[in-house]
Amino acid sequence: MTRAYIALGSNLADPVTQLGVAFDELGRLPQTRFVARSSLWRSAPVGYLDQPDFVNAVAEVETALEAETLLAHLLDIERRHGRVREFQNAPRTLDLDIALYGDDRIDTPILTVPHPRMQERAFVLLPLNELAPDIVIPGHGALRDLLPGVAGQRLEVMPG
Ligand code: ADP
Ligand code: MG
Repeated sequence: MTRAYIALGSNLADPVTQLGVAFDELGRLPQTRFVARSSLWRSAPVGYLDQPDFVNAVAEVETALEAETLLAHLLDIERRHGRVREFQNAPRTLDLDIALYGDDRIDTPILTVPHPRMQERAFVLLPLNELAPDIVIPGHGALRDLLPGVAGQRLEVMPG
């Protein structure tokens, strides 16, 4: 079994519900055990700014699925949530990214792990910090040493 961390994000069609349903769906993936989820965090959009705030979270799973098989399941779940890919950083009903897959470093045409921008994104690092404050991000070092670099990003934990 490999411990994986999945970053979730949504800013369309009731994001809190999108993420709640997505947690349930992650819990039903084959050969996978749902371990924990972070709080929900509200974040301002990056890249393309003229769109609603995002709701973000990180889920921790233990899985016997290969990373690329896990990715295929995540893309399936995104499709079920009506995800349409319009342009980079576009608003989305649901985005599911493999942030970490054990200590693996993966670089194939369809999958890069650790997720290539996670080390600079408060909306991934802060939820991850709730679940695994001692974790080391392969190629980028200890999570705790990356946190000061994202301290300027506006992000708030949501009540409930
Ligand atoms: P982003 O999440 O960067 O906004 P998309 O969700 O549209 O972009 O993802 C586009 C593609 O990124 C996916 O189809 C997938 O093949 C690829 N990809 C590469 N690495 C990862 C990863 N670690 N997690 C999820 N998707 C990834
Ligand atoms: Mg994605």
